[in-house]
This record gives sequence, structure tokens and C-alpha cells, in this order.
Amino acid sequence: MAVIIDSSGRLHHDQDHGLALMCPHCGVLAHITPVSVPDFNQVQLYKPSHVGIVYRCEACNGPIFLKFPVKLYAGSRIELSPSFVELERPRERFNLTHLPEMTESLFKEAMACFSIGCYVAFAAMSRRTAQSVFADLGENIKLSLYDQLDDVRKMAEIEDQTFSAVKQVIFGNDSDPQPNLPTLDAYDAGVLLEVMKDLLYQAYVRRGRLQQAMMVRRYFAQESDSKVTPLEKARC
Ligand SMILES: [Zn+2]
Repeated sequence: MAVIIDSSGRLHHDQDHGLALMCPHCGVLAHITPVSVPDFNQVQLYKPSHVGIVYRCEACNGPIFLKFPVKLYAGSRIELSPSFVELERPRERFNLTHLPEMTESLFKEAMACFSIGCYVAFAAMSRRTAQSVFADLGENIKLSLYDQLDDVRKMAEIEDQTFSAVKQVIFGNDSDPQPNLPTLDAYDAGVLLEVMKDLLYQAYVRRGRLQQAMMVRRYFAQESDSKVTPLEKARC
């Protein structure tokens, strides 16, 4: 696939109509079109090793910044390598409403690390998040979350190697012999993220939603009780 800036400053992309990626603003897998291409003469003059191009997300019109390595400077064209870098990556989302403040802030940071592909930092922040959950909920809940993790492995059919890395991140101790945090690749990190979301859902979100729903039911039941006149009083 060739990406070329011609001498009139136009960008030629093999996949001009097909270039799509996950937009960091709207989170949609959307087509993108170039709107700001660097000036041909300036780039030819300074010959940088990388150039930046701004695209428009066709779903939300937001700007998407991509950085391309320059492959070749020729007389009438500049050839770019198609392996671009996204300067802004989509952020992971999770409903943090029912989480305690400390767990919420740790998991937010864990998701930020995941979004930019820093998987060692992501594993470390995931362990910190899990430690804050166990400290908050106690040893019994820790044991029941440990059992639930095994159910998750069976339901989601997670491979043994990935599962053991995920388990070590969540339930391992900082005092275990080094390295007590396993090294995760992109797939392991993705699995860890989903397992962490499920763990937090089980520990807080599910209970919080149920308690909220029951409170609303109780409120409406009391409201309707107070509006009904008892039969004996109605006869008087
Ligand atoms: Zn968008």
C-alpha cells in the first residue's frame, strides 16, 4: 500500500475510500478523510523523518491525528510508510458509578494505561485496583471473587497461559519473588481488562444497581400505600 504526497500537495492513499479506524472521540469504527496535509515544499526542504496528517472522522467530524514515517523523498513526490501511529487512541469506558473513590481512581488510571498500550503499567494498576477492592470488601469476598474468576475462564474459554497471567496479576502478591507481575502482550492485556471489568461489576456495580432498584421499588410502594384509603375508614 502506497501513501504519497504529490508536488501539488495532494495525498494519494491506496485506501482513500476505505481507511477506517476506531475514532478516539466518538468510539465508532468510522471512515476517515484527510483534511490537512503538510506543505509539499516545506517537507521537501526540511526532509523530516515523520510527517503528521489530520483526518476528519466521518461519523462525528472530530479531528484524527496520524503520524507517518517518510519512506522516500523523490523529485515530485514524497512516499510515506503506511504504518502510521495514532496520536490519540480511543479511551476505554466503564461505568464507575458504584465504585469506591479509591478503586475508581485506580481503575481509571489502569484504563488510561491500557488505551495507550502501556501494558506493564496497566498490569501494575490492575493489581493496585484489585488490592483496593480486597482491602475494602474483606477476605471472604476475595475468596468468592477468586472462585468467580474460574467461572469466567470456563465461560469465556480463556487459554491456560493467558488465564494464569491474568490470575497472577490480580491475586499475586507484591512480596512474591521477582518478577511477580507477568509480562502481558496485547491479547493478554485485553483479556485482563475484560476480567477486571467483570470483577468490579460483580463486586460493586451489580450490587449497587440492585440496591438502587430496590430503593426505587420501596419508595413507589410506600407512595401508593399512603394514597389508598383503608376500607373501614372509607365506610365511615
Ligand atoms: Zn468520530
